[in-house]
Amino acid sequence: MREVVHEMFSEEQIKEKIVEIAEQINKKYGNEALHVIGVLKGSIFFLTELTKHLTMPVTLDFIAAGSYGDGTVSSGSLSVDKDLDDEIDDLHCLVVEDIVDTGNTLSKIRKMLTARNPASIEFCALLDKPDRRETQVDVEYTGFVIPDEFVVGYGLDYAQRYRNLPYIGSLEWIED
Ligand code: 5GP
Repeated sequence: MREVVHEMFSEEQIKEKIVEIAEQINKKYGNEALHVIGVLKGSIFFLTELTKHLTMPVTLDFIAAGSYGDGTVSSGSLSVDKDLDDEIDDLHCLVVEDIVDTGNTLSKIRKMLTARNPASIEFCALLDKPDRRETQVDVEYTGFVIPDEFVVGYGLDYAQRYRNLPYIGSLEWIED
């Protein structure tokens, strides 16, 4: 079995889209300080590019939470492998995720973080696969809406590989 990656969005297209998202966030928050929370590991490329274009005072924290293991099918249950370093009460928080698929991960993260009394909490995802939604979740800022295909690159992995691709592509398995 061979794996082939078909490019879906080039590095340039991704960077342009991220600037658009940053402009929306800058407009919304003005000079209000923003606490940006990255969901490890998939969001790191997106988060670093996005925060470079934010103009308000920004602080960063990370949470490692997911439901995928090494496969391509969401298990539905959330495991938190690394919690936030800092308290978030009274902070304006923006949670940054690579992709919203079933919505299970973000809805559970939203519930967990909302219980910690932030001043506000919003969500941002580079990719959205609405066809596979199981749990309705509000994502205030979205980059690209994509069909039901498994994508890798720009932080997204398959069994921990492909994260360092500078573009996003769909992964195809070919029988030799
Ligand atoms: P959800 O809980 O919304 O089903 O899944 C969210 C998480 O599943 C994402 O943060 C990501 O880690 C993983 N995921 C969902 N779809 C894809 C995909 O197409 N490619 C990769 N690499 N990960 C995905």
